[in-house]
Amino acid sequence: MLFKLEVKTTSHTEMKDITHLIQKAVTDSGVKDGLCTVFIPHTTAAVTINENADPDVVKDFTMELSKIVPWEDGYLHMEGNSAAHLKSSMIGFSEQVIIDNGRLVLGTWQGIYFCEFDGPRHRKVYVKITK
Ligand code: ZN
Repeated sequence: MLFKLEVKTTSHTEMKDITHLIQKAVTDSGVKDGLCTVFIPHTTAAVTINENADPDVVKDFTMELSKIVPWEDGYLHMEGNSAAHLKSSMIGFSEQVIIDNGRLVLGTWQGIYFCEFDGPRHRKVYVKITK
């Protein structure tokens, strides 16, 4: 079962907790035991799993990533958003989470984050749920 979700980002760079959206897709699928794959069909956005307890963690995350990959650094790409392309591939375009008893199996402090690196934009998130 494939779900195509929409996410609206509001900043140039942000990490948005989408755990509830993914859990809703799992619930709607009716699958109790299986696998959930989250895939981002963009080249300047990504998905990762990290801490959802302290909001400063994702702020540190994006701050440090921007030091490693500065927005301007003599890139050749004409569109001017090479940093966003680089960050996206570094973080990755998919995550897989186990489904048990109809629930995503995540650690106590884990959330699934949509990573925007060239927003704000309307984005898509694909969720494939298999038994
Ligand atoms: Zn580009």
